[in-house]
Amino acid sequence: AIAVRDLHKSFGDVEVLKGIDFHVDHGQVVCVIGPSGSGKSTLLRCVNRLEEPSSGQILVEGIDITDPETNLDAVRARIGMVFQQFNLFPHMTVLRNLTIAQQRSLKRDRAEADRIARANLAKVGLADREDAYPAHLSGGQQQRVAIARALSMEPDMMLFDEPTSALDPELVGDVLEVMKTLAAEGMTMMVVTHEMGFAREVGDKLVFMDGGVIVEEGDPAEVLAAPQHERTRSFLSKVL
Ligand code: ATP
Ligand code: MG
Repeated sequence: AIAVRDLHKSFGDVEVLKGIDFHVDHGQVVCVIGPSGSGKSTLLRCVNRLEEPSSGQILVEGIDITDPETNLDAVRARIGMVFQQFNLFPHMTVLRNLTIAQQRSLKRDRAEADRIARANLAKVGLADREDAYPAHLSGGQQQRVAIARALSMEPDMMLFDEPTSALDPELVGDVLEVMKTLAAEGMTMMVVTHEMGFAREVGDKLVFMDGGVIVEEGDPAEVLAAPQHERTRSFLSKVL
């Protein structure tokens, strides 16, 4: 579970997150929407400490990751992250992409790392592509490899930052399908996405951010059908 309390983040003089409070319970899928520049990626990056918060508290499984005493590597190892750009290692095969961090960070031996990698490749429908190089895969396949790579670390939760935004429309569905399966298996997920169908169908909660604050949050179907705030209405009228 994730709990964020009064989170502020500034870059120089510019305050990008202006007091964010929210929580993601165990097994919940929380979708985050909002206009460009509203702070969605910054929020996600604070949660796994790719960015250092300026103030506030972030509890991950009860551990305060803003505490300087916290072992960040240990926390990060429990949080899988998938980006818009897949960030695979281009000079490594698919299988190696999935095993390298298992061996280096988790000290698994080769055989165990291979076994876990293959199980996760099967899960994302790419069991037959373990010897391929990323450049020889479609964008949708690369993103599914990126998801399988994150899963191979056996994280407690997964953060997704617009995982389908860089994909051709016909490739989006396969990636969403994998995410839907993960959600059904009970993975705790925080997903920045503009796929409103996914948010409605899979999300337990929809959070609308604008200008560094959460303007509105609630049941996805309710927020989408009857937004309570003018800013939410205006945003949804542009994307729906
Ligand atoms: P998008 O939908 O375009 O991805 P976003 O909601 O994810 O937008 P962020 O990427 O979190 O928005 O950015 C929020 C604001 O913070 C923007 O004004 C951005 O320019 C600024 N920002 C983000 N990262 C940095 C940085 N490293 N240094 C300075 N400013 C930054
Ligand atoms: Mg972003």
